[in-house]
Amino acid sequence: MNRQRLLILGSTGSIGTQTLDIVRAHPDKLEAFAVTANTNWETLAKQINEFRPANAVLVDESNFHKLQEAVSHTETTLLCGYKELQGLVTADEVDTVINSLVGFSGFLPTMSALKAGKKVALANKESLVVGGQLLAPYLNGSYDRLIPIDSEHSAILQCLAGEDIRNIEKLIITASGGPFRTWNHHQISKATVRDALKHPNWDMGAKITIDSATMMNKGLEVIEAHWLFGLSLSHIETVVHPQSIVHSMVLFNDGSMKAQMGLPDMRLPIQYALTFPDRWPLPSRQIDWSISHQLTFEPVDPERFPCFELALQAIEAGGYAPAILNASNEVAVERFLKEEISYIQISEIVAKSLSHITNPDTLSVESLEAVDREARAYARTV
Ligand code: MN
Repeated sequence: MNRQRLLILGSTGSIGTQTLDIVRAHPDKLEAFAVTANTNWETLAKQINEFRPANAVLVDESNFHKLQEAVSHTETTLLCGYKELQGLVTADEVDTVINSLVGFSGFLPTMSALKAGKKVALANKESLVVGGQLLAPYLNGSYDRLIPIDSEHSAILQCLAGEDIRNIEKLIITASGGPFRTWNHHQISKATVRDALKHPNWDMGAKITIDSATMMNKGLEVIEAHWLFGLSLSHIETVVHPQSIVHSMVLFNDGSMKAQMGLPDMRLPIQYALTFPDRWPLPSRQIDWSISHQLTFEPVDPERFPCFELALQAIEAGGYAPAILNASNEVAVERFLKEEISYIQISEIVAKSLSHITNPDTLSVESLEAVDREARAYARTV
């Protein structure tokens, strides 16, 4: 059997390194054809030395010479710059693109990979949030082209195995509620960067951890589900489930509800995206049924988590609103992490950006990029 050849975009991040763990466990089935990193040349060099991919890209040109010095062999072609990354996406040798880039920078690679007929395993939810309307024509109503790595969407995909999409009544997306689930207004208004970075269940990158604290992440995931599964907002519900054991659920038209469960471990959705619709063994921690457990569920409180509401409003508004939401949120989170703004100003900046920026008439890649730039510039100054 031919090995599945992977292009791992963002190989030094949390999803990227876990993808390489899976490649390491299945050398007979998976091959790291190419790896790319934004700035982390040290980790990239280690990965190149271990996996010996045919190609590697460091986007940050200023440290390229350090990468060259740190690579111990000549089997890998070392490239630098975003253009080279984009070029690899359509390379003949690539079967699957694992897109774990952060933010809107992930959109174009998703688009060109789908255009070129590649399978995309998608951890970059912004691709769908911002450009879902432009990507939808390439999905053809099937699930095997663009496979979510996001745990909630992977859960839904797993619940849908063997089902007819016409029988879906509702997708029920679970949310951990983040570190501020039990905090009141007053406490939230004083939240620090350190508080917001303490996610109770998942160990992830800084941007998504802040998005989990504000619940913007859940809003983005509703938009993601809307495009992935082709369902309107009235068929997508969100429920807070602090234990993060039920990763999401599907309600069918006969009242039956399926849930996908497990201890939080991103390696499962990553591996499932590579093996779908098949499964491979994955050594993992399991729930201990010899002791008592409680699974609890509670509604989302829109008052304390305005970012979640803003995301739903953006998808209702359609057009460019999700792009503005995403761009202004990326900037606001950046500014919060730098302690330029307070925690509650994140949602204020997003709300102001949504009402301030006007929509161009036609939706295209160019106009999306223009709106993205405008929203970022505005969110930087407001
Ligand atoms: Mn998720």
